[in-house]
Amino acid sequence: MSGLTVGDALAGVCFRLGGGETVGVIGESGSGAHLLAPALLGLVPATGSVRFHGRDLTTVGDAGWSAIRGSGIAYVPAEPRGWLDPVRTVAEQVALALHAHQRTTRDKARRVATDLLAALGVPEPARAARAYPHELTTATAQCAAVAIAVANRPDVIVADDPTAALDVTSQGRLMDVVRGTGAALVLITRDLGVLAGHADRVVVLYGGRMVEGGTAEEVFYGPRMPYTLGLLGSVPRVDLPARRLPVVRTLHSRPLPTGHGPGDPLTGGCVFAARCPLAVRRCLDEAPALRHLGPSRVAACHFAERLDGVTARAVFG
Ligand code: SF4
Repeated sequence: MSGLTVGDALAGVCFRLGGGETVGVIGESGSGAHLLAPALLGLVPATGSVRFHGRDLTTVGDAGWSAIRGSGIAYVPAEPRGWLDPVRTVAEQVALALHAHQRTTRDKARRVATDLLAALGVPEPARAARAYPHELTTATAQCAAVAIAVANRPDVIVADDPTAALDVTSQGRLMDVVRGTGAALVLITRDLGVLAGHADRVVVLYGGRMVEGGTAEEVFYGPRMPYTLGLLGSVPRVDLPARRLPVVRTLHSRPLPTGHGPGDPLTGGCVFAARCPLAVRRCLDEAPALRHLGPSRVAACHFAERLDGVTARAVFG
């Protein structure tokens, strides 16, 4: 994918996704992360290039998408209750997903649904398969959404905060089932622990822009953009002595070193400038490009190279 753009809300997202790989996407509210899933599934108009088995998905018509959604690229929603069909049982919805791409019987669909729910750790899976969405707990509804998504063994799964409603054990089971399909995974999440445990590569979004990307090791152990540095530095660590965590302050909570006061409007320049302790005049005048720092490493900061070895505490206090 290169330069994926959705109106003014999301721009310039680039990453590659190989078979069986997981790309984790991090972003706070307003980052545009949750627009990525509908954009990848052709549900909102997008520009740029998204290539899937050689086809550019931004030019695929409705008929093409009918063949791709579900079997080529499947979706796991952040809020399964609003996404599941309220008048069909879980097994019926799995059957519909299967029928769209292959010949199957109702009995087989019920078996597939029951087996997937069992693998996901749902208690009484056969009963859950016969249930309507309003009869399910939030966690079981999430598992039902995953069962529907993986039923056709898609090549790519786009999962939008799939573990938010689950406890740690259930999170692990869900990720095992999803990764066990062999599908490549785009994992959009705010849970840095899930990301650290499962992502091969990481993309960081801020203010509707991609601001950093690289292997999980590169991003987690050597962030090169101040927002990523602050985000990772603000996570409590049980392996370190108790201490006050660095804080990425809210928008315009302090005067900028550029002479702008709190609340002064900023236009152009770096999307993170209003919160960045390292901001200088250049940051307001010139938006940093997403630059290559290594074979798989990109960052959008004028001073990315200078952040090598710098801690969040040194930048954010
Ligand atoms: S370009 Fe400037 S404002 Fe933006 S992240 Fe880098 S130092 Fe901060």
